[in-house]
Amino acid sequence: MISEEIKKKIRGIVGAENALDSDLDRFGYSYDASFVPLLPAKKPDLVVRPATTEEVSKVMAVAYEHAIPVTPRGAATGRTGGSIPLQGGISLSLERMMKIVELDVNNMMVWAEAGVRTIDLYNACAAKGLFYPPDPASWKFSTIGGNVAENAGGMRAVKYGVTSNYVMGLEVVLSDGTVLQTGGKAIKNVTGYNLTSLFTGSEGTLGIVTKVLLRVIPMPKKRGTLQLMFRTLDDGCTAVHRMLQSGLVPAAAEVMDRFCLEAVAKHRKTQHDPAIGACIVIEIDGEDDEALALQTKRMEAVAKECGVYEFRVAQSQQESDELWAIRRGISSAIASILPNRLGEDISVPRDAFPEVVRRIATIAEKHKLTIAVYGHAGDGNIHPSILCDLSKPGEEERVHRAVEDLFDVTLSVGGTLSGEHGIGITKRPYIAKALGESGVKTLGAVKQALDPKGILNPGKIW
Ligand SMILES: Cc1cc2nc3c(=O)[nH]c(=O)nc-3n(C[C@H](O)[C@H](O)[C@H](O)COP(=O)(O)OP(=O)(O)OC[C@H]3O[C@@H](n4cnc5c(N)ncnc54)[C@H](O)[C@@H]3O)c2cc1C
Repeated sequence: MISEEIKKKIRGIVGAENALDSDLDRFGYSYDASFVPLLPAKKPDLVVRPATTEEVSKVMAVAYEHAIPVTPRGAATGRTGGSIPLQGGISLSLERMMKIVELDVNNMMVWAEAGVRTIDLYNACAAKGLFYPPDPASWKFSTIGGNVAENAGGMRAVKYGVTSNYVMGLEVVLSDGTVLQTGGKAIKNVTGYNLTSLFTGSEGTLGIVTKVLLRVIPMPKKRGTLQLMFRTLDDGCTAVHRMLQSGLVPAAAEVMDRFCLEAVAKHRKTQHDPAIGACIVIEIDGEDDEALALQTKRMEAVAKECGVYEFRVAQSQQESDELWAIRRGISSAIASILPNRLGEDISVPRDAFPEVVRRIATIAEKHKLTIAVYGHAGDGNIHPSILCDLSKPGEEERVHRAVEDLFDVTLSVGGTLSGEHGIGITKRPYIAKALGESGVKTLGAVKQALDPKGILNPGKIW
């Protein structure tokens, strides 16, 4: 509980209208987009919405003095429960820090406040002919601060990498309110430890990101979309793998299995061809039409070697948007099939992708569960989604055992628990298995050094 006296102090910093404690407001900041109904959703005692770094710093100083838990929050699109305030305290929302502070065209860099939406940053850069590639499927809602905190990926990661590949520097407020600036516009920088990397992906457990310096690149001049249909998921995965091996790097290569295709067809009231067991949607980009035509020709040759059932090249922007709508529609389409959905986010070495996809099918059979598979085939990041009804007797236990098997398979091929969604609450029980004792101990030492009172996002990762 936060006393009335402390609330008054915080209201003095951010204004009464930005320090909310009604039941409804607290409820509104108690959940995120993790599909786990059994999470003990906790309401914060106070929702605080600062507008400046100075305000964040002052609020943190108060929280530090009184050892109040603080859970940072962007747009709450997180999939692992990261912005759920497990121990109450303050939900610190960055939603009012929405300014693009500087767009430095000469250096191709942009400073943005943490609450800027990913798509707004993309559009602001695009207007200047610049390209910010990380494109999480949630980019219409997610914030840059949340992307940094989770080291978010996206469809274009296969060619362009993930958020961390673009973060040049950060402004971070530490647990005691100290404002720290890391990195900068110098491309090469080995002065001291790489604190920018340390905070990127730290899930709000080490500091509050208030501003982000991102590098951007020239916008590709031409883009094209291809849709490849295969009879089996195995054939589709093998085709993407062979493309990469032969030096063909698509900007994005997204795979979806039969179940996802059927769910999207049902959702869109269209027919699914039962001969099709997998679909790959590919984005290619380049300097001109010839470059795209050459890539298309070479990709078609590889796809034919792998028994492609249908190879389609989008002829217009509208057709391209339609093909991508299938991929973007998966999440909501499969979520509507059964009452509960547990979405995982494993990441495996590229060459293990087809094998892991096969083993997921075996796990589904073993535990009598439906597991829909889609993901970023180009970079080995798979999203197996367990669709279930947790109100059925025994179902919850079966789901847990299936998740354990899934992680065992992932780790056995040299993969990792999360490619982009982070650990949060949902993967916490498995982190020791993935990192080993020395890994967990080292992470613990970093946490202790930066957050000695343990007030930053308590209960996450650990
Ligand atoms: C439909 C859908 C599709 C998605 N697709 C993708 C995808 O393709 N790729 C991908 O990587 N993710 C994806 N996600 C997950 C999610 O969108 C990302 O993790 C995103 O980065 C979260 O941003 P957010 O602003 O919503 O952060 P939140 O969910 O609010 O917070 C996420 C975590 O970051 C911390 N945090 C937030 N802001 C800050 C800050 N300023 N300083 C410190 N810590 C902070 C929070 O405490 C929490 O631990 C998807 C989610 C949905 C719902």
